[in-house]
Amino acid sequence: LNRRLAEFGTTIFAEMSALAVSTGSINLGQGFPDTDGPQEIREAAVRALRDGRGNQYPPGPGVPELRAAVSAHQERRYALSYDPDTEVLVTAGATEAIAAALLALLEPGDEVIAFEPYYDSYAACIAMAGGTRVPVTLRPHEGSFRLDLDELRDAVTDRTRLLLVNTPHNPTGTVLTREELAEIAKLAVERDLLVVTDEVYEHLVFDGAEHVPLASFPGMRERTVTIGSSGKTFSFTGWKVGWVTAPPALVSAVRSAKQFLTYVASGPFQYAVAEALALPDAYFEAFRADMLAKRDVLAAGLAEAGFEVFRPQGTYFITTDIRPLGESDGFAFCRALPERAGVVAIPNAVFYDHREAGAPFVRFAFCKQTQVLEEAAKRLKAAW
Ligand code: PMP
Ligand code: GLN
Repeated sequence: LNRRLAEFGTTIFAEMSALAVSTGSINLGQGFPDTDGPQEIREAAVRALRDGRGNQYPPGPGVPELRAAVSAHQERRYALSYDPDTEVLVTAGATEAIAAALLALLEPGDEVIAFEPYYDSYAACIAMAGGTRVPVTLRPHEGSFRLDLDELRDAVTDRTRLLLVNTPHNPTGTVLTREELAEIAKLAVERDLLVVTDEVYEHLVFDGAEHVPLASFPGMRERTVTIGSSGKTFSFTGWKVGWVTAPPALVSAVRSAKQFLTYVASGPFQYAVAEALALPDAYFEAFRADMLAKRDVLAAGLAEAGFEVFRPQGTYFITTDIRPLGESDGFAFCRALPERAGVVAIPNAVFYDHREAGAPFVRFAFCKQTQVLEEAAKRLKAAW
């Protein structure tokens, strides 16, 4: 393993899911639902397979049906117009979109600002692209993790090339407010920065929070690469269908990198996801309501078990503080948890450069059936 990647080892999600299997624990670690997405969309995938749509290499930018559906979705939800032919690119999940965007847009030595804790592939992809990551730490404040805008401004230097934003935010569940996003946008315009924004949890916002795409702010459309994914919104994390929307020059750059990563992927699933994106609003509302109910079940269970709970306004993760349980090291806690309680969770410290800042925080996923969440809560309560 070369020096760029040596520090990253095995992703925590693989490690913890393997631990869940080997100990027979309830897996609230890796974020994947235990119920597959809509039957009619699975049928659409079967139809595509059977009818020979996508069984051979699909077009490099993605099948036209899906590009049109992505474009229509951005228009319908956010009044953002993207030309399906030149401003939409289909990728192998959001993971490839992030990698391709960073590989395409960074010069060696460029600084990238990302909000810490950050999704683990960000650090690895910045490193693969030869960039330097500059973390700005979200800190607990009145029940949620918030961004300090002054800290963000101070982090920008002459070498800053790009802001890597994620809202709704994994793992904290923070949804950046319209005001915060407006400030981020202003800074990006002032300092002439590119923005890559990971909005894969766009449909999972609760309690009146609102998802506002960064690309919708003044001066942002031309400098922003927006990333979406079908994995989260439609509960098909194994299909690996994601996408990028951006102006033509940026899409073309991302595509240059993408063509040498996978070239193309997920042929038949692209047709199915095109149908999924066109589902009526009722699907998205029901999905959100279901996840909200699950959030409340797990949040109540974790609080009763003695954790401090940061009630998420978005995503399907709950970050907790384990110090009220008399614990302080999230790594040790998560390694012992399967034996102790038969539950698997993720230590947030892996998402930090400043590991000590993340040490007492542990993430639980709630995209699971209600009785599974209840059983996990019961086990956790019994263990302390
Ligand atoms: N970004 C974030 C913030 C995520 O949580 C995930 C999935 N866990 C991804 C990107 C990757 O998405 P995909 O599965 O579509 O590659
Ligand atoms: N995004 C999911 C999570 O945060 C897992 C993704 C992965 O396994 N790479 O849990």
